[in-house]
Amino acid sequence: MVPETADVIVVGYGGAGATAAITAADLGAEVLIVEKEAQGGGNTKLSAGSVRTFGAFDRAVEHITFLCGGATDPEVIEALVRESHDNEPWLRSLGGEVVMDPLRAAPVSYPVYPTGAASPEQPGADGVGPRLRVKGEATANGRDLWALLSGNVRQRRIPVRFDSPALRLLRHPDGAVNGLIARRGKDETVVRARKAVILTCGGYERDHDMQLQFMGQRYGSLGASGHTGDGIRMAADAGASLWHMNAVAAGFGYRVDGFDCAVIHAMPGPGFIYVDRNASRFVDETAMDAHAVGSLVTELELETMRRPRVPSFVVFDEETRLAGPVANTERGAVAGRYRWSEDNAPEIDKGWIRTGSGTAELAAALGLDPAALERTIERYNDACAGGHDADFGRSAATLRPLERPPFYGAALWPSLFNTQGGPRRNARAQVLDAWGCPIPGLYGAGELGSMWSQNYPGAGNLTEALAFGRIAGRNAAARNP
Ligand SMILES: Cc1cc2nc3c(=O)[nH]c(=O)nc-3n(C[C@H](O)[C@H](O)[C@H](O)COP(=O)(O)OP(=O)(O)OC[C@H]3O[C@@H](n4cnc5c(N)ncnc54)[C@H](O)[C@@H]3O)c2cc1C
Repeated sequence: MVPETADVIVVGYGGAGATAAITAADLGAEVLIVEKEAQGGGNTKLSAGSVRTFGAFDRAVEHITFLCGGATDPEVIEALVRESHDNEPWLRSLGGEVVMDPLRAAPVSYPVYPTGAASPEQPGADGVGPRLRVKGEATANGRDLWALLSGNVRQRRIPVRFDSPALRLLRHPDGAVNGLIARRGKDETVVRARKAVILTCGGYERDHDMQLQFMGQRYGSLGASGHTGDGIRMAADAGASLWHMNAVAAGFGYRVDGFDCAVIHAMPGPGFIYVDRNASRFVDETAMDAHAVGSLVTELELETMRRPRVPSFVVFDEETRLAGPVANTERGAVAGRYRWSEDNAPEIDKGWIRTGSGTAELAAALGLDPAALERTIERYNDACAGGHDADFGRSAATLRPLERPPFYGAALWPSLFNTQGGPRRNARAQVLDAWGCPIPGLYGAGELGSMWSQNYPGAGNLTEALAFGRIAGRNAAARNP
């Protein structure tokens, strides 16, 4: 079979892949995209679609340097901030209308998705800038962003091979990556790259073995089914150094029968608490960043060697049940497959939410110690009456007692928006080998080998997918091996 050939091969047709392809094509490169699934979009299409253009360069660099805690090279942080300044104008140049993201618009839901910095007390937080999104027909999700990017790929007639997972990278005897093997139907085909291969094929949210190896426990996935760590294996095989393998953006999710993905947990108001497996509260529930669950659930109980917060439980009363859905099914892999009801009643009937006429009965339904749960709720209700949460400092305005029976609860599992780990890259988006040298002809962008580490600011991944997508596309197109 004659190998297909293009100047630049992009692996993965999501936000970073589309951005890299558009950029390289606009510089005159002949581009081919290979995508594992029958359609493109990946996590980008399932996301909330929030993007940032960071603010003042020095302030943003200072803040991101703090967030990354030394695990990301300074020049990569600087490249991200500098390039992010073009996110908004670039999206406009593609024909997009860019608006402020209304994620935080009333009514507020919990846990929160901060519009500004996730760590506002820390140095440089004012450099993070607001959340933006592409305006379209959908509300606050990634479908509008994806419609803009994929529309521009189509306009440029960039070919996309669907149902065609990349399997292995090919290397010239001099070490340069010069193509790959991809599946096509039942066959495996060789695809040659005259200039470069750009890996933008996402993380390992759906690979349970990698979860156990890198994060020590299993997570649910809120996102795309194609994210099984293929890019990590291919890059490792080509000699890449890996970074940020134990860093994730994770929220709480429900595991529900009949779905291979988790469902995003979201509360319609402040009338709820979280408890662990010992029926104890462990956090200010209403100030918690929705992405930070990965850090919360790492605690290990040394006496039992179990993780007391896996699962955690949300507990609420009748008033909260009637206030609105306790899940968000507009985003994530569940979107379009299930619509959570306004009053949560069908989900109670299905057993997804457990109930009890009193707190002891609810505890039994959740498998918790009834006396312990009763004590926790009593203490929380006392805090509400006194307007002061001595345990976790929850603001008085959010202290709403749990009084009106029946009571409800559900298990909450750590669930991935995305992983951050993968091949390490430099400021030019070149993938680095185990000794820190660029692997010729290999570039990376997006959440595969993301520059984000343990502390994740919301909207950081799409900001990076666009910024490093353009950096990778530019440098790949300019390469003359
Ligand atoms: C519910 C949800 C909400 C989110 N909200 C936000 C948000 O508002 N802001 C933000 O910044 N981030 C958000 N994120 C994270 C963000 O969506 C992702 O990190 C980002 O979209 C990653 O872009 P990407 O291009 O790297 O990957 P993707 O867009 O996922 O694209 C990767 C593509 O590669 C394909 N692929 C995988 N393996 C192969 C292979 N072997 N060969 C070929 N193709 C392959 C996949 O099928 C996929 O189509 C959210 C995530 C989720 C799940």
